[in-house]
Amino acid sequence: MIKKIFILTGAGISAESGIPTFRDAGGLWQRVDLNKVATPEGFQEDPDLVHEFYNKRRKELLKVKPNPAHYALAKLEREFPGEVVIVTQNVDDLHERAGCRNVIHMHGELLKVRCMFCGKVFRETGDVFTSTPCPSCKRKGSLRPHVVWFGEVPFFLDKILKELEECDLFVAIGTSGTVYPAAGFVELARKQGAKCVEINLKPAENAHLFHEHRYGPASKEVPKWVEEVLSTQSS
Ligand code: NAD
Repeated sequence: MIKKIFILTGAGISAESGIPTFRDAGGLWQRVDLNKVATPEGFQEDPDLVHEFYNKRRKELLKVKPNPAHYALAKLEREFPGEVVIVTQNVDDLHERAGCRNVIHMHGELLKVRCMFCGKVFRETGDVFTSTPCPSCKRKGSLRPHVVWFGEVPFFLDKILKELEECDLFVAIGTSGTVYPAAGFVELARKQGAKCVEINLKPAENAHLFHEHRYGPASKEVPKWVEEVLSTQSS
């Protein structure tokens, strides 16, 4: 009997909603220089360029919708009799818009900004500029996207590691297994006896660490897998 399911999602689950992944053909990093827009050094060097990049991504995010894979996970969260923990590397809010209530954003959230001076975090759906004052301390030039850039430590790692220790089933969806520490979660889950399932378009870098593989678009494979899990639990 499965008591706790740990689900790790990556850019692949949102690809069919129209948000480009990082590394696939035509992916985001083939079009922009990550050192310029996704590192603390890039932000220090040219904050206007970084704000422009995230303003554009925020606008794009508001135009897209969750797909059947996001909705299937929300159904699993509602109907599974045990616990479902969703940890996402995605900065979009498509899990929440599909109805998920228990999502851990380890790489932050696109629709949030943080004041580097007072530390407060704010929801932001519009544009941010270097001239935008912090809504709380009013300091200008102190707001940054509330996302984890390359070289920064992901959020909620203690909580995530504790959840991993307790899970019986680990499922990675639409993630290439190349960005650490997330790429190492399967090893931790496996070591403590969890069954590990990969749902992906093609094998991830760390595919050999999974017990079961389901290859195909997330919008088809995730709903299929969710129905199987729910029917096994009720039989
Ligand atoms: P990645 O781009 O490295 O890999 C994407 C993975 O998804 C690949 O394994 C690919 O085969 C798979 N994939 C592509 N289309 C798919 C589909 N339709 N169905 C199922 N799988 C599909 O993404 P990652 O592993 O999440 O990379 C890590 C970084 O990318 C994270 O830090 C994350 O913050 C960031 N990212 C997030 C978003 C977002 O918020 N939606 C978008 C792009 C990148």
